Amino acid sequence: MSKTALPLSDEKPQIAITIDDFNLFGASPEVARKRNRALLNALSARSNLKAAAFPVGNNIDSELGKSLVREWGEAGHMIGNHTYSHWFYPNRSFHELSQDVLRLEPLIKDMPGFTKLFRFPALKEGDTIERRDKMRAFLKEHNYRMGYVTVDASDWYIDQRLRARLAQELKTDASAYKAYYLNHLWDRANFYDDLSRKALGRSVKHTLLIHHNILNELFLGDVLGMFQSKGWRLINAQDAFTDPVFSAQPNILPAGESIIWALAKETGKFNVMLRYPGEDSEYEKPKMDKLGL
Ligand SMILES: [Zn+2]
Repeated sequence: MSKTALPLSDEKPQIAITIDDFNLFGASPEVARKRNRALLNALSARSNLKAAAFPVGNNIDSELGKSLVREWGEAGHMIGNHTYSHWFYPNRSFHELSQDVLRLEPLIKDMPGFTKLFRFPALKEGDTIERRDKMRAFLKEHNYRMGYVTVDASDWYIDQRLRARLAQELKTDASAYKAYYLNHLWDRANFYDDLSRKALGRSVKHTLLIHHNILNELFLGDVLGMFQSKGWRLINAQDAFTDPVFSAQPNILPAGESIIWALAKETGKFNVMLRYPGEDSEYEKPKMDKLGL
């Protein structure tokens, strides 16, 4: 490491929470409300921490779904746009995806906390220059800023496995899933923070991608406690999104992944550290299989 980079290495990392999808997985209204309340309580218990929610339209297009998202806005959290259908851009046309962005708006635009922040489903931002740049121009035209993720992870996959286990054995001890989850997030947060320092010369204000699911209903409080106890500072999402990194438009293909991943890729200097996709179930499956989770 060069001498000029040393002072930066002492910076305490800062991280904000972002919660995606609002997939209720068929939960009853009572269970869905309880999950929503548990997530909100975990945040408010940490000095009233404010997150950003990125709901998907077809998950929340009901009185129940809208009321759950509205609670986030009323509690002071940001509400961004994650499309109506959560389509994977490589499988859809520019026209389909851009119309799907607009299709979500009527569901959330009058809620407190609505912000024109956009996040691509699965962080896939276009596989050709034309498709990538058409979406960038479309979002700009509609006054959207990018709700990039800096710390990507696979909480959705750990949750999927936990739900499958709970469906078999209601009395499953979830503590082994908790340990796996906390280790996974800590590992990924450090990977992306290290990459940020190496590729950008600084630790950016991070945005952690996690989901509205059972795993976080059970363990979001532990996640927040872990980051604090290890010296990271929890910050509000609104503060995080002021970091100039969220205005970057990396010139890579396929476009997407964590914004740190993408900017590191763009330099051409870190390819040995950059697997594709950045995060996925394929990396966690063998480890979870081995642990019997
Ligand atoms: Zn999503």
